[in-house]
Amino acid sequence: SVPAQADSPEQPAPGSRTVPTVLGGDLEVPLKDGRTVHYANLDYAASAPCLEPVSAAVNAALPAYSSVHRGAGYASQLTTARYEQARHSVRAFAGARSDDAVIFTRNTTDATNLLAGCLPAGTTAVVFDSEHHASLLPWDDVVRLAPPAFPGEAVRAADSALAGIAGPKLLVVTAASNVTGELWPIAALAHIAHRHGARILVDAAQLVPHRQLNVAALDLDYVAFSGHKLYAPFGAGVLIGRRDWLAAGEPYLKGGGAVKAVGADGIEWHEDPEPRHEAGTPNVLGAIALAAACDALAATGWAPLVIEEERLIARLRDGLATVDAVHELSLWGPDHPRVGIVSFVVDGYSAREVAEALSNEYGIGVRDGKFCAHPFVSHLLGAVADGGCEDGRVAAVRASIGIGTTDEHVDRLVEALRELVSR
Ligand code: PLP
Repeated sequence: SVPAQADSPEQPAPGSRTVPTVLGGDLEVPLKDGRTVHYANLDYAASAPCLEPVSAAVNAALPAYSSVHRGAGYASQLTTARYEQARHSVRAFAGARSDDAVIFTRNTTDATNLLAGCLPAGTTAVVFDSEHHASLLPWDDVVRLAPPAFPGEAVRAADSALAGIAGPKLLVVTAASNVTGELWPIAALAHIAHRHGARILVDAAQLVPHRQLNVAALDLDYVAFSGHKLYAPFGAGVLIGRRDWLAAGEPYLKGGGAVKAVGADGIEWHEDPEPRHEAGTPNVLGAIALAAACDALAATGWAPLVIEEERLIARLRDGLATVDAVHELSLWGPDHPRVGIVSFVVDGYSAREVAEALSNEYGIGVRDGKFCAHPFVSHLLGAVADGGCEDGRVAAVRASIGIGTTDEHVDRLVEALRELVSR
């Protein structure tokens, strides 16, 4: 029969919670000397590997699918039910209000751009230069603030910027930086935004794989995140938030599904944000995958995930601190709470040289570059140069961890860097 909607993801019996495994944990990779080694994936912040329950959910949906919201056939009914159940799971995972819109998008970038197209006329966005480009760039009228020197300064700067803006305003802020992993004071920023009659959009792309999100409790107006950073494959993300702006905004894509009726006299668009902004055949498997990841993490519970991540990131940062030539990038200092992301530079080597050596000689996957956060990385590189590190750098190396990361991966990275700098 067509599955009924549940109020929340099914919870396992107490004591039976286990952390799901990720696919690809046994991948062997070739090294340049001809050996092969077990891959140490330390690039979760780019795209996290798929969880087994996610792959199982996609496989379960594959044998019978058809169009959503359009057909009367059984496969169509089944697919529609699965798609709407996915929306339900994502809403529960994010702790969204029952009347929030939950719109499936391609990714976080798609979600922030969708919202940008729905802002009331004359809206000014306020963003910090520490944002990922997905949250920094979509706004037409924008006030850009320098990366704040400490968390309280973020609140103060937002306060004074919002006070100076007449008309509708939107504060845009990351919950966890994709460069430093540092957690931002989003509850305090939401409070300040609301005091000025503004709304807040939180980029939760790097928060949700690591920490519980609670849209209602934090009083957030909009959040965006991507499935591929949340242990689901590519192609689906979400924009969650207040319905009014989304109901009034131009349909994001114009076409079937977004429209109630098309006649000689004109077009009647859906006002409900979900059909209005989801024209065309949606990425149902992507939504099912994203929702399965949400359900799997919710069923595991955050405590074991956070405890293990904090242990591993401390091990990694302690290890990096023992290599003199390695300098960690941080906005708010080494003790500020963060998720499992650390970016650094290595004296004597460009970021690309480090990343290539780690891959080709040690089988370690990291990211190098400016991580789609050009102003922020430039700012942080300036700070490490002032701190005595080599000047003139243009990029950094980022190591990021998640479910599936082991002590051996972390130790291999630290020892590889030690070897590299001692050459
Ligand atoms: N926001 C943050 C903080 C990110 O780390 C990323 C991805 O790197 C994005 C937004 C954009 O995500 P996507 O590429 O899935 O749109």
